[in-house]
Amino acid sequence: MIKELQLRLLPEQAANEDSLKQVVSRELGEAVSAVTAVRVLKRSVDARQRTIYLNLKVRVFLNEEPEEEEFPTVAYKDVSGGKPVVVVGAGPGGLFAALRLIELGLRPIVVERGKDVHARRKDIALISREHTVDPESNYCFGEGGAGAFSDGKLYTRSKKRGSVDKILHVFCQFGATPSILVDAHPHIGTDKLPRVIENMRHQIIRSGGEIHFETRMDRLIRQGDEVIGIETHNGKTFRGPVILATGHSARDVYRYLYAQEIAIEAKGIAVGVRLEHPQQLIDQIQYHRKEGRGEFLPAAEYSFVTQANGRGVYSFCMCPGGFVVPAASDARQVVVNGMSPSNRGSRWANSGMVVEVRPEDYPVLMQYEAIEEPADSPLALMAFQERLEELCWLNGGQKQTAPAQRMLDFVQKKNSSDLPDSSYTPGLLASPLHFWMPEFITSRLRDGFRHFGNSSKGFLTNEALMIGMETRTSSPVRILRDRESFQHIHCKGLFPCGEGAGYAGGIVSAAIDGERCAEAVSAIL
Ligand SMILES: Cc1cc2nc3c(=O)[nH]c(=O)nc-3n(C[C@H](O)[C@H](O)[C@H](O)COP(=O)(O)OP(=O)(O)OC[C@H]3O[C@@H](n4cnc5c(N)ncnc54)[C@H](O)[C@@H]3O)c2cc1C
Repeated sequence: MIKELQLRLLPEQAANEDSLKQVVSRELGEAVSAVTAVRVLKRSVDARQRTIYLNLKVRVFLNEEPEEEEFPTVAYKDVSGGKPVVVVGAGPGGLFAALRLIELGLRPIVVERGKDVHARRKDIALISREHTVDPESNYCFGEGGAGAFSDGKLYTRSKKRGSVDKILHVFCQFGATPSILVDAHPHIGTDKLPRVIENMRHQIIRSGGEIHFETRMDRLIRQGDEVIGIETHNGKTFRGPVILATGHSARDVYRYLYAQEIAIEAKGIAVGVRLEHPQQLIDQIQYHRKEGRGEFLPAAEYSFVTQANGRGVYSFCMCPGGFVVPAASDARQVVVNGMSPSNRGSRWANSGMVVEVRPEDYPVLMQYEAIEEPADSPLALMAFQERLEELCWLNGGQKQTAPAQRMLDFVQKKNSSDLPDSSYTPGLLASPLHFWMPEFITSRLRDGFRHFGNSSKGFLTNEALMIGMETRTSSPVRILRDRESFQHIHCKGLFPCGEGAGYAGGIVSAAIDGERCAEAVSAIL
């Protein structure tokens, strides 16, 4: 017999299958020996009260052998004879577009400026070790895109459950742990992501698609108002409709589109800092106990949001048990972001703490920061991002060393005379962020931090470190596309896709957008 149950358990009761068997045998009035298996279908932590519970939905097998653990898989076709479609960028948007094209019988030709995910690792190590940033191979560029060396958080606010499930199933098909289908806040981890990405590449090639690394699209080939292919930096051309999934760090692509008068517009962003606490402190705060998370609970997460002087201030991309990483994509920049391994086992917790910036804020920011991009330019907020990243580089010692300040010192406008230990391997330089970051940002961050400190005792502390700056939370530009056909509003055959096009934010939403662009291409071929 098979039964499904909702359980509310203490962490130790939910620790493993044996402890779960004990619980369900009591719950169902059956002998433990009759419970042949307990499968967890959904799992979430409820840490709102002093006693922490795990909410579980389980499937119980009584006196019968459990079925194989299964999830729907896709049968990828041989598309070597299919019509070609050019996919620019091998981030989640581009990779999921390519896989969906194969499902639909079309042949993806993926063009990626960076290296394969294995070779990319070496360039990433050099950023920390030698402070050199390869503009074509870094935390943003290369196979897997910005999502490859990340926390691999797969949580999304998207309400399209079917689309989200499909993406999670594809991740599992290519090697992600099936626990991502169970957890309320699933994540893969930076140690596991590269293998999953490689498996996707192997499938694309096995099915007859192509992937060209270290090949940068420099130009769209146009015929009248139609895009019919691309030209690369080394003079190669690839013909077909173009899915443009180049991410939000490809500033050369935005500049090219603007110069070609291919319609784009400025889009709101959020900028701020990475905030790093000891993970143990976050565990103590979130789990309301001095001893921290103990043996059975995961590294605690948090999420904060408030309004300060008319703009949102919020935590972003929280990485429990993670590392702050140098995510610049060019030499004279310092940009920070966060990643975690699958066990979220580091000593630190970090998150972006950012302030919303709208296009209409630019005239104020522009005067303050002496930026030259005209206020009505669609590249205005991108210019603001660039200026902040350069300021960070200048204040961080003109290397990948990042400027940093203790959190309470920042709120009290005091210099930090020393800094606590940090996970940021290129190194930190104590710097008065309160002094040189734009007042528009610092005043709101201060208000936000006070608010978060009031709602979570212990959060606003000098044990926490602010690391400058988090600027790449989302795209500063939207590439305008038609709602129905997904084609650019003026250029047929061009399908702006994913985060860089301004239609996604995060791994899962970029992947969903990739699939939808592939479907839109299929509709015109
Ligand atoms: C360190 C870090 C951690 C993150 N953690 C998470 C997380 O845990 N969860 C989450 O949901 N999101 C996370 N994000 C954000 C997430 O990675 C992005 O939202 C997502 O990758 C966007 O996907 P995309 O395919 O649209 O663009 P991208 O991933 O940016 O991919 C774009 C690709 O296009 C390539 N490209 C650019 N220009 C060209 C060109 N001219 N020719 C050829 N190729 C080009 C780039 O090299 C890149 O590989 C993180 C980002 C970073 C940097």
